[in-house]
Amino acid sequence: MGIGDRFGKEGAAQLRAFQAAHDRGVTITPVWNKSNREHSLIGTLPEDVRREADNAVAQCQWRGDHFVDADHIGLGTVDKFLAASDFFTIDVADAIGKAATGESIAAYTAAMDRFVGELHIPGIAEPLSVTRASLNDIAAKYLFAVEEASRVFRHIAERKGPGNFVTEVSFDEANTPQTPAELFFILAAAAREGIPVDTVAPKFTGEFLKGIDYVGDLGRFTQEFAEDLAVLAFARKTFALPAGIKLSIHSGSDKFSLYPTMHRAIMAADAGIHLKTAGTTWLEEVIGLAAAGGEGLAFAKALYREAYGRYDEMAKPYLTVIAIDRQALPTPDVVAGWSAEAFKEALEHNQACPRFNIHFRQMVHISFRLAAEQQSRYLALLDANRATIEDHVFTNILTRHIEPLFLGTSA
Ligand SMILES: [Zn+2]
Repeated sequence: MGIGDRFGKEGAAQLRAFQAAHDRGVTITPVWNKSNREHSLIGTLPEDVRREADNAVAQCQWRGDHFVDADHIGLGTVDKFLAASDFFTIDVADAIGKAATGESIAAYTAAMDRFVGELHIPGIAEPLSVTRASLNDIAAKYLFAVEEASRVFRHIAERKGPGNFVTEVSFDEANTPQTPAELFFILAAAAREGIPVDTVAPKFTGEFLKGIDYVGDLGRFTQEFAEDLAVLAFARKTFALPAGIKLSIHSGSDKFSLYPTMHRAIMAADAGIHLKTAGTTWLEEVIGLAAAGGEGLAFAKALYREAYGRYDEMAKPYLTVIAIDRQALPTPDVVAGWSAEAFKEALEHNQACPRFNIHFRQMVHISFRLAAEQQSRYLALLDANRATIEDHVFTNILTRHIEPLFLGTSA
């Protein structure tokens, strides 16, 4: 399970949630993830994440594995992550649709020719219909991207040594979802390239916006997710991929309506899963500060006033993953009059609460840079309210994410 922490202060609180899950019989491996974009927005380095993760592990006496993810890297960005990371999310979405050579397309489609006809995948009700034309389409769309993943994988493996890191290949920032058939033949291509795919992140149907719930057709997602699990199990055996291969869900955090259906699917398939969820730890910090009242609440209100005034600048890196209705944002003057409780309730992800405002929540979510601009004051306030904030961070991860996804209980 991916976890994250913009300012690197909540590692132990998050890890304690994993310990609580472990005490209840669910073993989850924490993976600290921070993308290149996030590092550049607030001026942190991969080494900072490594230090935070290792410190939290020591402090909590965590006995299981833990990893540090170089999230969404490519050949141009991977090098600065090499020393600190042991999990690499190779993002090849931009390479989708670029042309592989005629020679490699011919070799690939010849090797896949044995699947032409009706492809029966255990767990999928209807056989997939595979034609030479559909194989050619898949090769035209995805083969170059898989070859690019292979180049990045080999670049990392030459420096870290094969077997010393976890390999994820991600397509989630593609324009269109991959069908189960596409996923199957992508995994075939990856296996031919010798990429030991530990986790694969397809793009799923629907929208995965930052810090708010899933927007899309839940029934369709449910079917697609179960079919993708079936594809992975079948591809693993057919192409000798790593035994522990998992689907990776880049959730954008807080996909509460998906957790029950994902829970049922992984239990039915006896499958593992990798869930990336990260950014809401920052929101729990703001909620904790606001709930503390006094200076903490004043800071949270001032941060919102600044964010509101600099909307375009805050939104620019996130335009494809937010849906903020600016008319539905409270004005800073209105927010200035809010009580601690009112601020907390507007921000906290409790869809049953009438005060909850998803536009306000997204606005604060993408404005973590503003806390970085006043970092010493922000960190001092976190210190002053440490117990309250850790309580929020711990409870958020455990009851809103781990329990519904891995234990099948609702928050
Ligand atoms: Zn992603």
